[in-house]
Amino acid sequence: MKPLRLICLLLTGSLALVGARAAVPNLIIIYADDLGYGDLGCYGHPTIRTPNLDRMAAEGMRFTEFYSAAEVCTPSRAALLTGRYPIRSGMCHDQFRVLRAVSTGHLPLEEVTLPELLKSRGYTTGIIGKWHLGVWSNTPNGHPQKHGFDFNFGLPHSNDMNPTPVAPKRANARPDQRAEWWNAPLYRNHELVEQPADQTKLTQRYTEEAVKFIRSNKAAPFFLYFPHTFPHTPLFASRNFAGKSPRGLYGDVVEELDASVGRILETLRQEKLADNTLVFFSSDNGPWLIMNQQGGSAGLLREGKGSTWEGGMRVPGIAWWPGRIQPGSVQRTLACTMDLFTTYAQLAGASVPTDRAIDGRDIRPLLFGSGNVEREGYFYYRGSTLYAARSGDFKAHYLTQAGYGQPKPDTHQPPLLFNLRIDPGETHNVAADHPAELARIAQAVEKHRANLQPAKSQLVDAVAAATKKK
Ligand code: MG
Repeated sequence: MKPLRLICLLLTGSLALVGARAAVPNLIIIYADDLGYGDLGCYGHPTIRTPNLDRMAAEGMRFTEFYSAAEVCTPSRAALLTGRYPIRSGMCHDQFRVLRAVSTGHLPLEEVTLPELLKSRGYTTGIIGKWHLGVWSNTPNGHPQKHGFDFNFGLPHSNDMNPTPVAPKRANARPDQRAEWWNAPLYRNHELVEQPADQTKLTQRYTEEAVKFIRSNKAAPFFLYFPHTFPHTPLFASRNFAGKSPRGLYGDVVEELDASVGRILETLRQEKLADNTLVFFSSDNGPWLIMNQQGGSAGLLREGKGSTWEGGMRVPGIAWWPGRIQPGSVQRTLACTMDLFTTYAQLAGASVPTDRAIDGRDIRPLLFGSGNVEREGYFYYRGSTLYAARSGDFKAHYLTQAGYGQPKPDTHQPPLLFNLRIDPGETHNVAADHPAELARIAQAVEKHRANLQPAKSQLVDAVAAATKKK
């Protein structure tokens, strides 16, 4: 090769590298609330119509073994944004499982959040939707802007948390439920926009804000965290969707969420951002089965929200990045929400903290088809108690308990053991046949515990506040 040509090539190569380094991707997480593993068309639901999420999966990657790091809302979100099991940040509690409207606890300021990391790399950061890591009207340090977000639009907590005196006792008790029975406050940054929020328009309004956020921040890298309020009960759909789904109101709500995802992806295409944006869709925990027809479905998985059976924590996971992720790919390797922390940080060129334990793994090899990601174990907590652990195909249950309605757990000695590859529904206990697997999982648990420093629970004060109120 002629020297001049070689120099030109080298020069072009290094320029391309500089370009690649400068062009960090936009990052989006869309997080449904209480959407089950079996609630989307692309995960096998026969009557809920989700053409946009199905298309997202067809153009991207669908995970079959994607997990939330907790079985209920607050700890799940803490894990997603810190890359750590919630027991490390104190955002879990055995009895009071989530933050309430009266809570003064919040995500500790010492925690390093994903938006904080991304901000350090020049990203503009926004949260649109349900926060649930601090009620800022009780405690200013609970506000998302204290935790790395530049912009906030949404509710501080779940949509059922401060009912007015006429609220029905059970969210599914009244087909004629009305938005004003739920006194949910809707905020833009620190400003109270509406209370009670008109929940029939919530998904629509979130979506408008998200589209606006994308359009107004398109010139520089942005991180949009979009945790929807629904399909957590009480369920509300806007006029365009109410009464349309063959699956009833729950279907209406999920179909509206699906349309919202479609709007986001369409906006990215229109703004020519699609080939430089990674979007990940998931859910904070499994379906709320005690809500009967207004709760979702975990498909073939056992149990739902609140439990450490697969249905409580294995959730849909869809990754989309045209040009980078192989279209129509199905990923069967275990991955989890905590991995998004680590992976997104790496994609932005930020380094994950080294002064603390981080449980999330860099799953770029899975997303981009360049290799595997080894994981010694995965740990299922209910509150701050470890109920089960998985290693490879096998999962051992030390304790089991229904998500709701079973006051005390059943203890298993020897533990129950399921081969999830053969038996994802956890119906055939094979502990007697695989003592070596049980021993291997026990070893992984021991190692995990040796490196565990549980933090004081931030949810404890909710117990005190609620007791005092009575
Ligand atoms: Mg939830």
